[in-house]
Amino acid sequence: MQPEQSVIVTPTTELFDVQTQEQLRIVIVGHVDHGKSTLVGRLLHDTHSLPEGRYQQIQEACRRRGVKFEWAFLMDAFQSERDQNITIDTAQTWFRTDKRQYVIIDAPGHHEFLKNMVTGAAGAEAAFLVIAADEGVQEQSRQHGYLLSLLGIDQVAVLVNKMDLVEYQQEAFARIEKEYGSFLNQLRVQVRFFIPIAARHGANIAARSPYMPWYEGLTAVEALDQCEDTRDVELPLRFPIQDIYRFDDRRILAGRVESGNLRVGDKLTFWPRNKTSVVRSIERWSAPRKESAQAGESVGITLSEQIFVERGHVASHPENPPVVTDRFRARLFWLGRAPLTGGARYKLKLATQEIECEIEAIEKVINTTTLEVATTKRGEIHRGEVAELTVHTKYPISLDNYSRIAATGRFVLVDATELSGGGIIHDAIYSVPSDLTVKSLTNVTREQRHFRNGHKGGVIWLTAHSQPEVLVLARQLERALFNRGMAAMVLDEKTALASLNSDLGFSAGDRAEGMRRLGEIARMFAQAGFIALTPAASPYRADRQRARRIALRDGCEFIEVFVRIPVPSAQCSVGSSQFSVPSGQLAVPSFQLSVSSSDFAVVGSTDYEPPRSPDLTVDHEKSSVEASITQIIDALIERLQLPPADYAI
Ligand code: GDP
Repeated sequence: MQPEQSVIVTPTTELFDVQTQEQLRIVIVGHVDHGKSTLVGRLLHDTHSLPEGRYQQIQEACRRRGVKFEWAFLMDAFQSERDQNITIDTAQTWFRTDKRQYVIIDAPGHHEFLKNMVTGAAGAEAAFLVIAADEGVQEQSRQHGYLLSLLGIDQVAVLVNKMDLVEYQQEAFARIEKEYGSFLNQLRVQVRFFIPIAARHGANIAARSPYMPWYEGLTAVEALDQCEDTRDVELPLRFPIQDIYRFDDRRILAGRVESGNLRVGDKLTFWPRNKTSVVRSIERWSAPRKESAQAGESVGITLSEQIFVERGHVASHPENPPVVTDRFRARLFWLGRAPLTGGARYKLKLATQEIECEIEAIEKVINTTTLEVATTKRGEIHRGEVAELTVHTKYPISLDNYSRIAATGRFVLVDATELSGGGIIHDAIYSVPSDLTVKSLTNVTREQRHFRNGHKGGVIWLTAHSQPEVLVLARQLERALFNRGMAAMVLDEKTALASLNSDLGFSAGDRAEGMRRLGEIARMFAQAGFIALTPAASPYRADRQRARRIALRDGCEFIEVFVRIPVPSAQCSVGSSQFSVPSGQLAVPSFQLSVSSSDFAVVGSTDYEPPRSPDLTVDHEKSSVEASITQIIDALIERLQLPPADYAI
């Protein structure tokens, strides 16, 4: 079996491991030294989940070495044994009760702990949050509480530990319950249980403590058994492809079903490419084939028709696709040593996708301990802070809003090689239409727009020696068309296109580029069904011809209207002397070119090239503006099929 990818995962029996018994994934968080590892040791022991004789062996080893026994050693020993056997990151049971198996996500104290919590591997369904009764609520207690709320883990039990150090007093417990309860309330985290425990002594872990008769609630283990398995079987299918193997003549697409389920015969669409095929078989490495697979299972599938699929693609049922986008908003927990900065680039990992991304905007920064929100926009986020930001990926990727499907709604950011932050996605919407939606978008035809507006769209290019006068004409024409219920818009360079052309100067090349842009914008308006009126300073025939070509290229009407205007003599100045240039030789007063030399300024310095064969000529020397408008509208009625009517100006 050869993987097609450069990322090689040695196939092992775990690859397509089948999970049969009910499992619940839990996470244990809290301030350092508040007793998390001790709690794990106790859970292993008190639920009889350790191998026979292991507890005695470790006690004996401590005695021999003269080391004080710690319950945390049980956790360490258990973990190191498991580490030797782990070949692939499948869920591993830690302890079991009569009801179900429990998997602890990563071990407390592990330096990557927080990072792992926000990665895909850390989708916990329930959490224990440990607070030592003698020290009370600490910075990390708050931070971790915030993290739970961020990740949407809402089955939370707060364990107030080391009750022996406060003489098992109810008041000490009640104080913490009140203080921490109100903090979590602000985060809208509903705590299901507050439990006083003494992990070292096994008080209220699996058995009720005789020292706290005032407490009538559940033990820690009973509370866990009350939690629900929220695995995502009922959700839409998400099957991110981890690797592709060739085996005999089969091509097996391997991955973990993150949500929903799939069956042989199902039609699947692979995103972001939007390619569809049918599941021919579901393969498991050492187990018999099955007809279906569900959330949490790692399987391989073969397809009846070979299509292009690679690592990172996400399969869904066609009717329930993920969002495909290159831009989304997220809440990000930053753990990097260097601050995260706006505009910087990072590697983003989401399910099995990896892609470069840019932090486009940082909208809010939240202090996770005080819950203060920085009101001013900051350009960077420091370690331990949470930010709301907009992420822009280099290419479109497949994702979901976290509130819909958690597994494909969270991501991590890698700064150089260091995993530096984890986030969850919200407000993601389609920005990249699938092939299907492209078809339906182009389905709105030119004729349909024409029908709705009652006229065609088109470009009316008004040209004259003098731009200010033609601008006045354009505005009046716009009003006349508008009053007749028509979609018309003046696109003049100075107001409508000023910001678009802010990068352009007054050189000949820049002016020509300005004309080209105007031509393109006018063409787009025409396509949208508008009558685009362009009173442009376009003295050159070549520019106007290009604007015509741009419009005709997409089948738009283009009507060049030459407005004949009496040409005043232009005023030129050189140094302190002023002189007039006779009418007709040059004259475009709107062309205010300044030459940098301080004692040489030219006003109206460009030759105007009148059109040789305009579509229409209106003559302001001989008739009024109103008469010109009537003349133009008459021409439009013919060319753009406007409904004839009285012209209200
Ligand atoms: P972690 O850093 O949160 O994993 O904390 P540990 O489990 O390593 O515990 C830190 C210290 O607190 C150890 O010395 C434990 O023995 C001690 N400890 C844990 N639970 C209790 C308890 O219920 N009572 C008392 N007195 N000490 C405890």
